[in-house]
Amino acid sequence: MKTFIDALPKVELHCHIEGTFEPELMFQLARRNGVELPYDSIDSLREAYAFTKLQDFLDIYYQGMNVLLTEQDFFDLTWAYLEKSHTQQVRHVEIFFDPQGHLPRGVPFSSVVNGIHNALTQAKERFGITSELIMCFLRHLDEEDAIETLNAAAPYKDLVTGIGLDSSELGHPPSKFERVFQQARDQGYRCVAHAGEEGPAQYVREAIRLLKVDRIDHGNNALDDSKLVDELREKQIPLTVCPLSNTRLCVVDHMQNHPIRKMLDLGLCATVNSDDPAYFGGYMTENYNAITQSLGLNKEEIITLAKNGIESSFAPKQRKQALLEELSEYASRN
Ligand SMILES: [Zn+2]
Repeated sequence: MKTFIDALPKVELHCHIEGTFEPELMFQLARRNGVELPYDSIDSLREAYAFTKLQDFLDIYYQGMNVLLTEQDFFDLTWAYLEKSHTQQVRHVEIFFDPQGHLPRGVPFSSVVNGIHNALTQAKERFGITSELIMCFLRHLDEEDAIETLNAAAPYKDLVTGIGLDSSELGHPPSKFERVFQQARDQGYRCVAHAGEEGPAQYVREAIRLLKVDRIDHGNNALDDSKLVDELREKQIPLTVCPLSNTRLCVVDHMQNHPIRKMLDLGLCATVNSDDPAYFGGYMTENYNAITQSLGLNKEEIITLAKNGIESSFAPKQRKQALLEELSEYASRN
C-alpha cells in the first residue's frame, strides 16, 4: 500500500503556505534577516510543536511568520513546499496565505504575493505542478479588517483565485464575515472557509448558507448533524480534510477514530490535505499513509479520495480532465 500511495498522483487543496515553514528554513531566514527567534536550536523549536488545541499551534504559527520579510523569503518558503510536493507526486496545489499576518508588520502585499507567485510559476515550468492561490482572512480580527485586506488585494486580483477564512474558529462564526464574502463573490473570487474543525456543525451550515462557499475546510463536526450531512451529500460540497492536523491538534483523539472513513461511507466528497505540514508531522503522502494504516482503507477508497481532490479543485476544466485521466490510468495499472 505504501508504494501505491507514494506514486499516487495527488492534489492538495488545503495548505497554508506559512504552515510549511520547516524549522531549518526558519532559522536560515531568521539569520538572513537578523530576526531573533525565541528558541536556541532547531530541536528546541521542534519540541515546542506539542499542541493540545488549535490556539497552541496558532501562537507558534504567528511567531514563525515574523521571520518572513522580503519577497525572496516568500519565494524560498513556497519553493521549499513545492519541491517537497514534487517528490510526493503532487500535481496540483491550492495554497492559502494570510495577508493579515504580514501587512501589519510592514511587509507589502506585493512582496507576499509576488514571492509566492514566482515560486508557483517556476514549479509549473520545472515540475508541471499547476496551482491556484487563495487569500485567507483571519477570523479573530474584525470584518472591517478583512474588507480592507480584500481592497488591498485588488491590484493582484489576477493572481488570486479565491478567498478563505482561517485562524481561531471558536467564538468567530462565519456569520461575522457575511459582507466581505458577498463583496468577494461579487468581484469574482471563489470562496472557501474553515468550519467544523473546533467549531460546531452550525458553523458549517453558516459557511454554506451565509458565505456561500464552494468548499468547506475541515468540516469534521458536520457529522454531528444528520440534516447537514444530507445537504453535504446531495450538493456534494467538498470537505478538505486534514488527518494529521486533526490528531496533532487533538480535534480527533486517535487516527483510528478519524471521521474520514465515515465521510466516505456516507457518500460525502472528502479530500486529503496536509494543512500545516511543517507543524503537524507530514505532507500529502504522510497523510494518506496515516489514514490508510489506521483506518484500513483499500485502493479503491484511496482513489476515490484522490479523485475527489481533483474534482473539487478550482483548476480549469481541461486541467482537471488531464488529472482525472492520469489518475484513472494509474488506478488501472496498479
Ligand atoms: Zn487550515
